[in-house]
Amino acid sequence: MSRTWNFYAGPATLPVSAIERAKADLPDWEGTGMSVMETSHRSKEYDAVHYGAMGLMAELLGLDDDHQVLFIQGGASTQFAMVPMNFIPPGGSADYVNTGTWSAKALKEAKIIADGRVAATSEPDGFTRIPRRDEYDLDPKAAYVHITSNNTIRGTQFHEFPDVGATPLVADMSSDFLWRPFDANRFALIYAGAQKNIGPSGVTVVILKKSWLAQANENIPTMLKYATHSAKDSLYNTPPTFAIYMVRNVLEWVKEQGGLAGMEQRNRAKGDLLYGVIGAHPDFYRCPVEADSRSYMNVIWRLPSEELEAKFVAEALAAGMCGLKGHRSAGGCRASIYNAMPIEGVEYLADFMTRFAAANR
Ligand SMILES: *Cc1c(COP(=O)(O)O)cnc(C)c1O
Repeated sequence: MSRTWNFYAGPATLPVSAIERAKADLPDWEGTGMSVMETSHRSKEYDAVHYGAMGLMAELLGLDDDHQVLFIQGGASTQFAMVPMNFIPPGGSADYVNTGTWSAKALKEAKIIADGRVAATSEPDGFTRIPRRDEYDLDPKAAYVHITSNNTIRGTQFHEFPDVGATPLVADMSSDFLWRPFDANRFALIYAGAQKNIGPSGVTVVILKKSWLAQANENIPTMLKYATHSAKDSLYNTPPTFAIYMVRNVLEWVKEQGGLAGMEQRNRAKGDLLYGVIGAHPDFYRCPVEADSRSYMNVIWRLPSEELEAKFVAEALAAGMCGLKGHRSAGGCRASIYNAMPIEGVEYLADFMTRFAAANR
């Protein structure tokens, strides 16, 4: 087997064990003589996968009885609209912390549906940092405060979640969900498209505080209402069964690796290694992100010129590493090193970076 070192931002690399398991299961899954893709979502076999994935997620996160795991389609981008639709009351508004492209898109949807305010932003600094809590201007009447825990494009990450008092806290965790232990019960709602850190595209995980539903708006199309998915455990209509099966495989791998504490250990080692290489060559590599806002999931850096950046990406590809070009809106290089990226892949990249700097300075 030959695997590429895959640094794409998403869809992204998955644990080999999760893929191997799917490969073995495809023709004849658990003695059913069919694959999970071909099985009714009302069968007892699928039930075990669906509730198994939900249960593993709740276990890994230590969810309390008021928090529920949901599987919804439409990607994180649909959550940008569902959150305000469900939770901003008529005439109300919500507060958004704008830390880049994805939070701006979330805010845009809130403004279409109701009203959204920017409570804090690092836009004047080119989104190179996470705003400090003392920079927030919160509206005490806001329906919720929305943050983007990891900014996939700008390479910034919240290392501490803000205390926003009694106002419900909502987070888009698409690109760092499950990267380390955290108190998920503090959040009123968390959403994450699976395709970065926890599975393939096609399913979005939502962690919902059920008691918050008491304040949700009623007059919303059925499929866009959290209450619909909550009441039926995400089996109101056909769920993306294969994607959920893959999430289950990934979550079992997370558990085998020591759960979220195991993930944090892996991820810190990988991020520290890459930032170390960048810092060791200050005349050649430069990370534009302020030190205490740097992401352990998406590491971004610049080279002395765009020509060298293009050369770096091309030579890295020839050496077996894909996905290192930065997002088109940010430029430079980016390595997405989510949970499933092994330390060996990051060591390979770090060695390449050291050699490239020596050969091209
Ligand atoms: C990728 C990404 C999204 C968009 O996710 P889709 O599932 O493609 O809609 C939203 N937020 C963040 C932080 C992301 O990284």
